[in-house]
Amino acid sequence: MTKIDFSLEVFPPKDSVGVEEIYKSLRQFAELKPDYISVTYGAGGTSQGLTAEISSFIAKELSIPSVAHLTCVGATKENINLALQQLKLYGVKRILALRGDLPEGHQLGDFKYATDLIEFINSFGGFDVYAACYPEGHSQSPSYDFDIKVAKMKADLGVKHFVSQLFFDNDDFYRMRDEYSKAGINVPISVGIMPLTNAKNILRMVTLSGCKLPAQVTKMIAKFGDNQEAFYQAGINYAIHQITDLISHGVDGIHLYSMNKPKTAEDIYKNIKVFLNEGSCEN
Ligand code: FAD
Repeated sequence: MTKIDFSLEVFPPKDSVGVEEIYKSLRQFAELKPDYISVTYGAGGTSQGLTAEISSFIAKELSIPSVAHLTCVGATKENINLALQQLKLYGVKRILALRGDLPEGHQLGDFKYATDLIEFINSFGGFDVYAACYPEGHSQSPSYDFDIKVAKMKADLGVKHFVSQLFFDNDDFYRMRDEYSKAGINVPISVGIMPLTNAKNILRMVTLSGCKLPAQVTKMIAKFGDNQEAFYQAGINYAIHQITDLISHGVDGIHLYSMNKPKTAEDIYKNIKVFLNEGSCEN
């Protein structure tokens, strides 16, 4: 049995109070002993400096491997080259290479797809490159099969690890994993889990990620949506149940979208710790 990775995602806060808070939160996250922490990159490349600084803090101060996200939005070969030099200097050794989504008024730049960025980072050298994958398929892909082809391209370019988009129906993940296996993609996948803790934020999250809401979740919203305490508990239970099922199906890793909230991560972690340490039942 192999140990299952447990990792977290944080995002760079928008204001100075949030920035102060994130370093405190990271120390609390560190107590959960995650295998890595990834740091998002603001849409349009707005938070590049902070992504690098937070990633460096995680790697150097907390001695936890950090994964800095990097996107193609507005990126030139020259500024990606500079960003890579900085990340190297900062002790960051892993990068999640993404295309990103174009906010209004922004352009992609020298890189059209994540695959272009992956190639560039690999030729720069010195980083383990991670990439995104989509259990429900990417919303702009012409077909599900095309999505699998894109994942195969990423794997053939030497991607070391996939991190999945959030989803709420585990069957979507099992289908994707089967298709990857048939396509000869043998890259470990960290499964992205978004805890549902506030009914009001769900619509925005669904719009951003394009993911489906199964009937179980819509019923949960209808029943508990107006009672924050009850909804929080129901959301934590849902995430624990989802993760328990994933682990019993032999996944490689659980990646918690922490939303920068240590309590949420702790409430989930304490209930899944025993399964992570036991390793997977399949594979
Ligand atoms: P790609 O893999 O480039 O795919 C984008 C689209 O282009 C797909 O429809 C694909 O089918 C198509 N495509 C890909 N390659 C080719 C090709 N060679 N030829 C033709 N078509 C192709 N966004 C941020 O802005 N900042 C973040 O920090 C961030 N973190 C994320 C973390 C995770 C785990 C995930 C799943 C997503 C994250 N995103 C982030 C969102 C992400 O940028 C969007 O989902 C974006 O739409 C796609 O990024 P990608 O890297 O998957 O793109």
